[in-house]
Amino acid sequence: MPDGMVQLELSAVKTLAHAALLKAGCNDTNAKAIADTVWQAERDGCASHGLFRIPGYVGSLKSGKVNGHALPKLQRTAPSVLWVDGDGGYTPLALSTMLDDFTALTKSQGVAVAAITNTFHFAALWPEVEALAKKGLCAIACTSYKPCLPPAGGKKPLYGTNPLAFAWPRPNGEPLAFDQASAFMARGDVMIHARDGKQLPDGAGIDKDGNPTNDPNEVLEGAQLPFGGYKGASIAMMIELMAGPLIGEQLSLEAAESDDEDGGPARGGEFILAMDPRKTAQRPISGGNAERLFQAIAEEEGARLPGEGRLQRRAKIAKEGVRIPRELLERIEV
Ligand code: NDP
Repeated sequence: MPDGMVQLELSAVKTLAHAALLKAGCNDTNAKAIADTVWQAERDGCASHGLFRIPGYVGSLKSGKVNGHALPKLQRTAPSVLWVDGDGGYTPLALSTMLDDFTALTKSQGVAVAAITNTFHFAALWPEVEALAKKGLCAIACTSYKPCLPPAGGKKPLYGTNPLAFAWPRPNGEPLAFDQASAFMARGDVMIHARDGKQLPDGAGIDKDGNPTNDPNEVLEGAQLPFGGYKGASIAMMIELMAGPLIGEQLSLEAAESDDEDGGPARGGEFILAMDPRKTAQRPISGGNAERLFQAIAEEEGARLPGEGRLQRRAKIAKEGVRIPRELLERIEV
């Protein structure tokens, strides 16, 4: 391909990721869970959390920071709280280990919280909320990261880019799911702009002196900005608290202090809240008035449901495969 890109079959993504992770010291169970998460990102056209992350995953395995042989453990700390100790591994295995128990807990209690701790999060969040919504549950998930965003009015990074994802089950078809950073742009996208020599849109960040800039390298040295000004900053702060102190995990600033900068993520937690509408609304969700809302959005000219773009990308990629930079492929295959 003339533009330095290579075309891959979607199935090759999992094979490549799995092989690279095994080579970096993961056992098969951990490698499969991470490779599946990377595959889901590429399947849905989210390049910033797909194969692009493999060098980072590999870096933290090789440095010994992340446990490639993690064996997550589950513990009920209250009737509706599932506490997950990820054993110092990457988050995907902790998530796949807890999913069935957490679903059953939410269905029996009506509402449940999963406190995922002692893990390293390097992924998008829609896969877990989508998986819960496919079981008929409404779910919210969030995680924090190393400081990237200043508090409102400040210029020194304090909050992570702190994503929040939400999913809602639908009677016929895929759940509705959105997944968004508290930052104006996900950090992976800022890094991809830097790699590709592209300017950022206005509002994405400031340089180290606090001046607005469109240069991704200056933003990476300075700070990204939250979406929606002080409102986004408050959402980022809420996520710091829920994915940190509320579940006994680190703040972003503490994660950065304890990190060895090996290219992978810092240790952190994930907070998940799931609710069973059959208990909270006392009726099945199918055919309920949520569909009326979605119908009204679909009928509005210029509007669409969040997540619809991702499902369209999924359909396109299923037919056409994935395009990644040749240089990235060569790094993964080393
Ligand atoms: P985007 O801004 O690209 O999209 C955010 C959400 O908005 C998506 O669900 C998207 O749906 C929806 N959306 C976009 N345009 C519209 C529209 N016109 N109408 C309705 N909905 C719309 O995502 P971000 O850059 O904020 O985040 C990207 C990813 O990065 C997320 O998956 C997040 O989890 C991840 N991330 C992970 C971190 C970590 O530490 N693990 C840190 C920060 C981010 P659609 O896909 O359909 O366009």
